Amino acid sequence: LDPSSDNLTPIERDIEKVLRPQEFEDFTGQDKILENLKIFVKAAKLRGESLDHVLLHGPPGLGKTTLSYIIANEMGVNIKVTSGPVLDKPGDLAGLLTNLETGDILFIDEIHRLSPLVEEYLYSAMEDFKIDIMLESGPNARSVQISLNPFTLVGATTRSGLLTAPLRARFGINSRLAYYDAKILTTIVLRSSAILNTPISDEGAYEIARRSRGTPRIANALLRRTRDFAQIKGNGSIDTEIARYALTALNVDEHGLDEMDNKILLAIIDKFKGGPVGLKTIATAVGEDDGTIEEVYEPFLIQEGYLMRTARGREVTEAAYKHLNRIKLGQTGK
Ligand code: ADP
Repeated sequence: LDPSSDNLTPIERDIEKVLRPQEFEDFTGQDKILENLKIFVKAAKLRGESLDHVLLHGPPGLGKTTLSYIIANEMGVNIKVTSGPVLDKPGDLAGLLTNLETGDILFIDEIHRLSPLVEEYLYSAMEDFKIDIMLESGPNARSVQISLNPFTLVGATTRSGLLTAPLRARFGINSRLAYYDAKILTTIVLRSSAILNTPISDEGAYEIARRSRGTPRIANALLRRTRDFAQIKGNGSIDTEIARYALTALNVDEHGLDEMDNKILLAIIDKFKGGPVGLKTIATAVGEDDGTIEEVYEPFLIQEGYLMRTARGREVTEAAYKHLNRIKLGQTGK
């Protein structure tokens, strides 16, 4: 249940598009952020200006891409989508920038992964809507300045800590998306079921919602899998019973922790006496990338009170011992 979009199949990508809210009105949750964005969009439109640059941060699957499309839609402008790792040469960025029309949105996902060279190039584009382009090479090389149409850069990142200060300073609007609570995710599950023509009870939707790691992308993925179980093992509609059956089959536990969540906690308890232990050591023990653990798994485990980040490393809490039916050994020998 990887909440990042990297491993989606083409069919899953299509379904994501279908389920993606198009307007502010369809977007549930993140009330404060939405309230502000609505005002900024309205004001920019009234003044006939492009929107300030927007930085969206937070774990994968919480709606950063969705919000960017909504902003473009509400502003009535085009959106061009790219990502940090893809833009590896300043020339690639220049090509994109010079093709933007007034007010257009350039969405850069994983903006913390831009190369320093490309990032530097972005500064003048963001600040003055100007870029320097090198013409020819060798002894005839010279740079000319090109004016761009005013545009809005929307940057998304799962790791705002990795953003350089000069880049961060160039965003006028800076929003951190938070995990969704079960009630709001229930609304999202009900909306998605309606779009997918799947009958579902409120309780069934709640069961999926509360076990979705606070993440709409996971809620939608679990809904689709549960729909399969309902079709094959039930009568096609989703109630609490079929939702529980499906979630158990998918290795999502009672508290909504998935296999990797539990594997991480178990490794810290069984192999490292509950911690403190370093991130890289945990990563090796569970066979997962340390960046993924830090961006995807850890924030949720910390929020839910199973894990702590201390100066000496990661430590599990009492709640983790209880959750996994482990007994905490005495402090001796630690
Ligand atoms: P991110 O860019 O943060 O990784 P996305 O914007 O791609 O996340 O969202 C993942 C999926 O979750 C989308 O297909 C979208 O349908 C759904 N989604 C995200 N946020 C919401 C929301 N607030 N309301 C309804 N659906 C949402």
